[in-house]
Amino acid sequence: MSKNKIHSKLFKKFGNIVLLHSTKKDGPIGDATGINNKNLDKMLSKFKINSHDVVFMEQVHGRKINMVKNTKIKIVKNVDGLVTNKKNIFLCIKSADCLPIVFYEPITKTIAVVHAGYKGILKGVIEKTIEKLEKIQVLVQNVYVYIGPSIGKCCYSVGKDRIIKFRKKGIAVFEKKADDYFLDLKNIAHSILLKKGLQKNKIEISSLCTKCSNSLLFSYRAHKTEKRFITIIGRI
Ligand SMILES: [Zn+2]
Repeated sequence: MSKNKIHSKLFKKFGNIVLLHSTKKDGPIGDATGINNKNLDKMLSKFKINSHDVVFMEQVHGRKINMVKNTKIKIVKNVDGLVTNKKNIFLCIKSADCLPIVFYEPITKTIAVVHAGYKGILKGVIEKTIEKLEKIQVLVQNVYVYIGPSIGKCCYSVGKDRIIKFRKKGIAVFEKKADDYFLDLKNIAHSILLKKGLQKNKIEISSLCTKCSNSLLFSYRAHKTEKRFITIIGRI
């Protein structure tokens, strides 16, 4: 990196888009319930982002998505996704194994973020985000998506009950090794995006697994921690 160690090849070409992740070096930017303002300010100043311009979500493992028109509310209650077409509003996701997913549609200049863990994915948080974008006249075939660092199939062993839940949804991507099931949430998200009409060449999945890369990023499975790193996207 220069300053930005983890990046998206796909989003790099948009000169008007800032897409960043904090790392462990920045300290926890938040935990499961709140924000560490000291660490947040330190990180933002490194990237010359004004702390008044960022908006977080409460992240309740639901499927509610809100439009953001200004930055008066710093933590939007009861939502797991945010959408805006305004300049200089930076949308943030806290995560430590869950999928931080960001969206950009260059025609209407709309950005969106989603916090997608297995519960939210089962509830349809990704589909709801696409539907929210469609409601504001965004054409899905023009949308770019980046699925950020999150738990990989390599480390996400789950009980059979969870596999059954995804089978019921019609999208169970997993591997079985001996008696263990390894769920592939990144590819499940990818399948949902394709089903909703997004184009394959406009979707990028980070190869970073948070548990494997736990010296760089916080991982719930690796540390049993409440500490979170953040993913930020904004249009400048
Ligand atoms: Zn891993």
